[in-house]
Amino acid sequence: MTDKACRECHFISYGSICPNCKATNLSDDFSGVVIIIDPEGSAIARAMKVKQKGHYALRVR
Ligand SMILES: [Zn+2]
Repeated sequence: MTDKACRECHFISYGSICPNCKATNLSDDFSGVVIIIDPEGSAIARAMKVKQKGHYALRVR
């Protein structure tokens, strides 16, 4: 299995549906992985509008 990043919310997962926002708009062409552990206290998470902890791609093509 290859990991894929959601084009909607940039969440990285292994399925064909994003577990974060339920979108099926996923891409295996992404770069820059950010691990969000504390969405409330992270400036990056706020900038990316991330509310759930997990792995996120910085750029999704
Ligand atoms: Zn998503």
